[in-house]
Amino acid sequence: MLMTDIIAKKRDNLELSTEEIQFVIENYVSGAIPDYQMSALCMAILFNGMNRRETLDLTLAMRDSGDVLDLSAIEGIKVDKHSTGGVGDKTSLVLCPMVAACGLKVAKMSGRGLGHTGGTIDKLESFKGFDTGISEEQFFENVNKIGIVITGQTANLVPADKLLYALRDVTATVPSIPLITSSIMSKKLASGADIIVLDVKCGSGSFMKTIEKAEELAENLITIGNGADKKCAAIISDMDQPLGYAIGNALEVKEAISVLSGKLSGDLLDLCLTIGSKMLMLAGMAENETEAGIKLMETISSGKALKKLAEMVEAQGGDPEAIYDVSMLPSAPIKYEVKSPVNGYIKHMSALDMGLVSMHLGGGRATKADTIDLSVGLVLNKKVGDKVEQDDVLAVIHASDKNKAEKAADELLKCFEFSATPVEKPKFIKEIL
Ligand code: URA
Repeated sequence: MLMTDIIAKKRDNLELSTEEIQFVIENYVSGAIPDYQMSALCMAILFNGMNRRETLDLTLAMRDSGDVLDLSAIEGIKVDKHSTGGVGDKTSLVLCPMVAACGLKVAKMSGRGLGHTGGTIDKLESFKGFDTGISEEQFFENVNKIGIVITGQTANLVPADKLLYALRDVTATVPSIPLITSSIMSKKLASGADIIVLDVKCGSGSFMKTIEKAEELAENLITIGNGADKKCAAIISDMDQPLGYAIGNALEVKEAISVLSGKLSGDLLDLCLTIGSKMLMLAGMAENETEAGIKLMETISSGKALKKLAEMVEAQGGDPEAIYDVSMLPSAPIKYEVKSPVNGYIKHMSALDMGLVSMHLGGGRATKADTIDLSVGLVLNKKVGDKVEQDDVLAVIHASDKNKAEKAADELLKCFEFSATPVEKPKFIKEIL
């Protein structure tokens, strides 16, 4: 088999065979296929797409490029979720303890943030001592004992995706539905859960800018998951504005704790209830959304979900006291208020640009090698549709020094658009599939 023939076939919009797809992945991971040939193939896939069979073959070949976790030694139903990436997305920190407190098993591997998007693993490192690289033995022991683990991906989990994602990032081939689907689902399938719920983000801060594209991705993710014998569902949620109020690692942990303590409701809680309900229903633990919603809310009112988070933090070496006393979490020295220049209504807030403000403050990485400051970021006071008076506080910037705070304030103000007339609040959960 020749890579040039395979590239030419996809360039001419022909279907690749299972054997050809396996050949590409095996030889790219071994180093026999160079980056320049793989980038040409990715670009041909971006333009000409892949059918369901090709996408499933690509997903399975990628899954099998490294370790595939066998979770059968863990009793109970194992659930996982994945978000296609967004700004202020701390869903896993709230949802996972809630569903674990309902009796589902959460054996989750998460990633680090890159660019304007944050990562759950970075956020969890806000707990002093928290180990995001626990051994496989510890991983199984913790899930069996307390029902929840969130850790980093093992070095050998889908090596094909590590190489491909880095290549796609620098060859403008990220926004291809078959490539995104195989990238996401290969990791989810290698992580071994029985039930996978996908949170597909839609809007300016996400890969999928339109509802049509988000629907296409959601349908593809479910089809490929089902094709690999997993129970799957997908939610399409808004990412035109950030999720919740906080952007930045420790700030997002504090927001998650507020939700789990029953002190904060809104889009973040709604999303967790929607994803959690799907999980409980697919697991046969609830007949319908109402019953599932009651069970999930009970984990908050009883304090069980917060306790579950504390158990997880402690079992992974972190200090659980910080959950009950958030002043123990990293905190930036400078708090800088950004005020409204006008009277009116908030028409738009760019999630993407707000993510970049947090990144420039030191809360995110421009390249994988960058270190991050867990304490910095911003906390919004208002969301789209809210009325504002001149000089109302729109957001508070948390920065390591005054210069950075002032620069971030200028950048942040440019993220807001105002309207003199009332603005309807956008629909947050756009679709449930
Ligand atoms: N998230 C992933 O894991 N892979 C993609 O290709 C896009 C988003």
